[in-house]
Amino acid sequence: MTTVEFICADCEQSIEVNEEMRETILATGCPVCTSSASEDDFVAEE
Ligand SMILES: [Zn+2]
Repeated sequence: MTTVEFICADCEQSIEVNEEMRETILATGCPVCTSSASEDDFVAEE
């Protein structure tokens, strides 16, 4: 199972996300600091 982590480029908070959360963060930005997020801010880990 692949785990996807969001690492905010602005506040450097890392958060484990599922697909739904990924979509939400891309749409609304970082849940911590609300900085806008891009595909590059997500890291997939096997
Ligand atoms: Zn942030």
